[in-house]
Amino acid sequence: MKEFKNFINGEFVASGKWFDKRSPLNSQMLGRVAEASRADVNAAVEAARTALLGPWSKLTVTERVDLLYAVADEINARFEDFLAAECADTGKPLSLAANVDIPRGAANFKIFADVVKNVPTEFFETATPDGKGAINYGYRTPVGVVGVICPWNLPLLLMTWKVGPALACGNTVVVKPSEETPQTATLLGEVMNKVGIPKGVYNVVHGFGPNSAGEFVTTHPKVNAITFTGETRTGEIIMRAAATGARPVSLEMGGKNAAIVFADCDFDAAIEGTMRSVFVNCGQVCLGTERVYVERPIFDKFVAALKVGAENLKLGLPDDKTTDMGPLISKEHQAKVLSYYQKAEDEGATIVTGGGVPRMSGDLNNGCWIQPTIWTGLPDTASVMKEEVFGPCCHISPFDSEAEVLQRANDNEYGLATAIWTKDVSRAHRVAQKMEVGLAWVNSWFLRDLRTPFGGAKQSGIGREGGVHSLEFYTELKNVCIKL
Ligand code: NAD
Repeated sequence: MKEFKNFINGEFVASGKWFDKRSPLNSQMLGRVAEASRADVNAAVEAARTALLGPWSKLTVTERVDLLYAVADEINARFEDFLAAECADTGKPLSLAANVDIPRGAANFKIFADVVKNVPTEFFETATPDGKGAINYGYRTPVGVVGVICPWNLPLLLMTWKVGPALACGNTVVVKPSEETPQTATLLGEVMNKVGIPKGVYNVVHGFGPNSAGEFVTTHPKVNAITFTGETRTGEIIMRAAATGARPVSLEMGGKNAAIVFADCDFDAAIEGTMRSVFVNCGQVCLGTERVYVERPIFDKFVAALKVGAENLKLGLPDDKTTDMGPLISKEHQAKVLSYYQKAEDEGATIVTGGGVPRMSGDLNNGCWIQPTIWTGLPDTASVMKEEVFGPCCHISPFDSEAEVLQRANDNEYGLATAIWTKDVSRAHRVAQKMEVGLAWVNSWFLRDLRTPFGGAKQSGIGREGGVHSLEFYTELKNVCIKL
């Protein structure tokens, strides 16, 4: 049986306590995971602290940047290993992980290495009464040991999205991957050792949230900053933990994203984009669309086309090239998504397609499969219009005016992303600017330039990461003022 261990101070360590990792495809055991104890987390934080003050801090920026490039290159050299690990943990199609998860996981090290190497700080000249003046310049130092708490939907991509900038800025990290996806974070430990990242710079502790590794990391007084991606409810708990010691947090949390489709859109592009934004990764993407608002003249045509698209999706194994969609991550999550499918029905939805568990073949029926699902006919107050489902489903509502759709799309506690489909350039800008979100796409979805700010408004997040914005969180910006 495979064992996924903690990675502390450059070594893989078991802890005496294990939990099972099962395949989402058929619930078979993939291996056992070492659950980090409080003592293990203490050791990881201690190792991170020692490395922070020791070998890691002695490197020049160029040396550090070169090492991060080597990390990226080594991930690419072991592309197949990472691909296999990610797909085993999540059940997602190889084609998806090969195009998104793994290459982005590697790229995250290079992009932030480039930022740190190339982005200057500010400089001001200040007049003084004696006429001699003063100069001011900004100087960035690492924030310290960073606790990185990760979700399971894009495990390597979202973890390195934080570890990349953290290390580039000279910090050290203690990573707590999701209990559902232990493998790629563990594998990254091998990469770190191979390329010569000093011991203790990158540490991984496995486990759960409350009373387990997640809580031990976020409440540890020597963790100087916490960066988190996951559910809003968990983010609130972590924010409370960070209040002790007034430690900074970066929170990337849930969404209930609206797509807005105007009648003048490129219809085929809107369908193609909405198919992706609703169903890719089995709907388990924070930026994904769960509410679709379609202007009335094309409403029926849009619903019919999305139904055809959904019904043509092929559910299957990761290595089958014809697979469009894998299973949900776990039995627990399947139960949650099914409870929303039931709620939609109870609250009076018209089920356009889906609504349950598909019949699969053989032992796949023990897996976490779910039907792609589309509803119409619900009011904006319905549960599946308000709460994040995080499954392959959406509700489609008609609308009659721009003002109406803006009000309805914004009437939600979340504010992560939107996709706007229209050929009217003025309207595209107007609507994008009025949407209460961190990310607004026009005539596209999930088109990411890693230099741009990423994060959520309202209950979807606090802070922005990406490009130079990551420097705000991962460094302490000091002003040095020199009287001449
Ligand atoms: P989750 O909040 O259940 O878990 C995330 C991580 O937090 C896990 O590692 C978990 O073990 C840990 N955790 C749980 N309770 C904790 C506690 N009390 N203290 C410390 N750590 C704790 O989220 P999930 O189910 O893994 O991921 C899905 C959620 O993530 C969705 O809501 C999705 O929208 C969100 N998400 C957001 C973004 C974004 O960028 N905004 C990206 C991906 C996912």
